[in-house]
Parts: sequence; C-alpha cells; structure tokens
Amino acid sequence: MGSSFRRFTVAVAVIALFCAAPAAADASKQRGSTQCVAGAPGVGDEYYPTYGNGGYDTRHYDLDVEYDPATDRLEGEASIRVRATESLCSFNLDLVGLEVSRVEVDGKRADWSRSGQELVVTPKRPVGDGRRFEVEVRYGGVPVEFTIPGTTIRTGFMATPEGATVAGQPEVAAGWYPVNDHPIDKASYTFEVTVPNPYEVVANGFLRDVDSRRGSTTWKWEAREPMASYLATIDIGDWDVNRWRTDTGLPVYDAVDSRITGALRAEIDAGLARQGEVLNLLSDAFGPYPFSTVGAIVPNQEDLRFALETQTRPVYSKRFWRDPQGNPRNADFVVVHELAHQWFGDDVALARWQDIWLNEGFATYAEWLWEEYEERGTPQEIFQATYDSIPADDPFWSVVIGDPGVDLLFHDAVYVRGAMTLQALRNEVGDADFWEIVRRWAADKAGGNGTTPEFIALAEEVSGQDLDAPDGVFDTWLFTAGKPAFSTPAGQARVARASTQTARERAADWLNDVRTRLAQGRY
Ligand SMILES: [Zn+2]
Repeated sequence: MGSSFRRFTVAVAVIALFCAAPAAADASKQRGSTQCVAGAPGVGDEYYPTYGNGGYDTRHYDLDVEYDPATDRLEGEASIRVRATESLCSFNLDLVGLEVSRVEVDGKRADWSRSGQELVVTPKRPVGDGRRFEVEVRYGGVPVEFTIPGTTIRTGFMATPEGATVAGQPEVAAGWYPVNDHPIDKASYTFEVTVPNPYEVVANGFLRDVDSRRGSTTWKWEAREPMASYLATIDIGDWDVNRWRTDTGLPVYDAVDSRITGALRAEIDAGLARQGEVLNLLSDAFGPYPFSTVGAIVPNQEDLRFALETQTRPVYSKRFWRDPQGNPRNADFVVVHELAHQWFGDDVALARWQDIWLNEGFATYAEWLWEEYEERGTPQEIFQATYDSIPADDPFWSVVIGDPGVDLLFHDAVYVRGAMTLQALRNEVGDADFWEIVRRWAADKAGGNGTTPEFIALAEEVSGQDLDAPDGVFDTWLFTAGKPAFSTPAGQARVARASTQTARERAADWLNDVRTRLAQGRY
C-alpha cells in the first residue's frame, strides 16, 4: 500500500546499508574498562536514513497498552528483548510524539533523551557485544497519526468514532510504540491491550486471553512468527468475529465491525469466505502459506482509504467493496493482493525500501493469477493488454521502479510495471525456471529479508542465463525509464503470440479497474 503521491520531507542520504555510522567511532569512549560505542541512529536505509537503529537485534516486543477511545490517550509499557551486536554505551529506539516517563535496562533505571524520532537510551553500564538484555519503556499520550501529504488520506494509529485502526506503511509503528522501526529487524510480538468495555481488540497472530474486569478488558494477542514493525496492528472496535478453518486446516480469525451491515456486509463476508480458496491458489504458485493463522480486519472507518498486509491479518477498507459511484464491486482482487503479500512483503520482507517493487509487483502478479483462475485472462494477456494500452509518452513509463525514490514509492507503476517485470522474466526464462525462481525466493528468504540484487542473482542461478546485462530483462524493466522494447528474440516471440480479441478486452478491463482502485486508495 501507500500512495502514488506520498511525499516525505526526510532528506535522502547515501549510507552503505548495515555499515556502522562513521560517527560511531567518534562516539566510542571508555566507560569503566569497556570500549563501547553509541548505536547508530539509523540502519542506513538510503530512502529513510533515520529509520531503525544500529547496534542491536530485536527479538521480542511485549506491548502492554491501555487505550481510551474517549480521550484518544494511550498509556504504554513496552518490554523489548534485544541482543547487542556491538558493545553499546548507548543505543536508540524510534518513537514519534508520545511522552516517555521512564526507561529501564535489565530492571535498572537508564538515562534517556529525545531528539526528533530518536529515543536515546544510556544504560548505567555499557552493554557488551552479543549480550541479551531487556529494555522497558513507559510512555503515553495521544498516538501520532501520519497523513499522506497532498491528500487527506490518514495512516498510522487512527482514532475513529468506533475505536481505532492501526495501519500504515512505512510509517506507523513509531507512532504508537518504541521500536527499531525498519523491516530489516523482525521480531515476535505479544500485545496486551486494555480498552474500556464494551470495546474489543483484534491484532496479529492468535488471541490468547481475554481478561474482563469491571469497566475494562485486556485482550492478549500473540504473534510468534518474526514480523516487520510496520506490519504490527491492534484494532479497536465492536467486532463480529468469524473463526473458521480453511480446507487445509489453517485457523482463520475474521473481524468485521458490527456496524457494517446490509448488502455491503454480505459482499464483504462473501469475499472473506474465499480466503481459503485464494490461499490454495497462491500456495500452489508460491509454496506453503508461511504463517500459522490468517484472517481479516474490516473496520467501519469511513475515511480508511487503503488495505494493508498486516501480518497474518490484513486490514481492509470497506470502500474496496464499492466503486466510486457507490455501486457494489467485487473486491476479491484486494484479498488476493493482501494474502499474496503474506509471502512477498511479510515473510520475505524488504531489506531496503527502494526494493518496494518486490512487494507490490508480486502482489499484483498474484492478481493476474487470480484473473486466470477466474478465467478472465492469462497473465500474458493482461501483460500484453497493459503494454498495448499505455502509450509510450504516458508518465507511467517514466518511473524507474527498481529505484523509484521516496516520492514515487507507491506509484501505480511500482504495482503494474512490477507485475509486468515478473511476466517479462517468465517470458525470458520459461515457465519451469520462472516458478522455480519464485518458489526458491519464498523458501530461501522465509522469515527474513531480500533485496533486488539478491533476487536477480537467484534468477540467474536458476536459469543459468545472464539476466543483469545492460538491455537485459531486469535492466530494461526495473532500471530504465521509458516503455521497454522487447529486447530478446525469445521475449519478442512470446509477446507476439496473439491472444483472442475478447481475452484482450477482458485483460484491458483489469488495467482500467486497477487504475480506478489506485486512484481511490492503495492496497
Ligand atoms: Zn500491496
């Protein structure tokens, strides 16, 4: 998800990824007899230099959060288990807004200071390289929302008349908990969310406990599978819960706000009922579903303009089930898209935000697989219709999706040309190698992160072809502005194989649809 016109004011700095910041050496000092350094204030993401932090690896977040929809106030206690990857005199967490009242390291008071989104923690004694330790932060306030600049689209921790919706990309996590806020540092999560009765809470993973007291209830959710910080969600509302299992036995937990009723509700329920079928199709294509549970969260929030692949339980705007005129619209494609992200985006997460096409290209390609499954056109037909219907002078072709820049991170082209890149690769290497590349990418990187160069290297390894040459398939589709010409005889021949007129028309419909959806919001 995101916005085609999302603009950030963050300055772009070129820092080699994962290198300790040069400042770290200067900051090193003697404390006692231990040589220690200040952990870097960012992981070195070229697009978001201050996102995440260096010097440690997060293992688990235990977020004990009290939220009152009447005041929008949140009181939190975060216990974060980490492992030092350097000898640390101090280290940073990311936290935007929200006041900090106390920080402890291994149960002992620590000094702390704030600077922008950086919460700098200085323990009483340096933490040795490789040591596991626990940071506790007590904090509170009204959680910070993010808007998509130039639009009215809200993201982040969004207070709603019904409670709260928590979703955003890349910005959301630091607006409601102290965090190493970059997908490179995944962790497991426990959420203990206390809300006034009769509010209810749904989150990622499994519901473990519901503890009701007079006036309030604590909902304990556990997400044990490693998760990128922006994929964590807690959603507060009055949920109609549907617990069921897919035909493969996967537990499903769907939460639809009870205020969504009538025809719209029936359409949403019918869409969610197809999740098992969608997962079967995607598992056949990509390999086994990566997580131990699945489901959906559909808030009643009127101005929610996007869907997000929050891990194991995507958040969906109810608006996807209506066209711009308010007429019913099949939204199976959104469910397919968000569930495909469970493989590509979530289980295999980005290591650098510039590689966003790896998320959106795959999720959009999954929509093409769904179109084929529904007998509305093959991926090749949709590819061809898309190629034919966007003129060479359309700005669509000017986006370099392999390095789009922060402003264009979620441009239509990242989605559509991203999927086209995969079809171009398929045409280049043939079906057998293509599917082996896709499945190995999902399997080799499961639970971790991947980059575009790593994906290209895998494609070359599997196919035995030189694919990263200038004018080769990746250079052409990912890194060269302009409408690609078909560069190889093999690619040319396959594209030239004409499909029927009707199939092309149906495929062209997909493109019209997707552009309408992207104009309405993101997913
Ligand atoms: Zn997406």
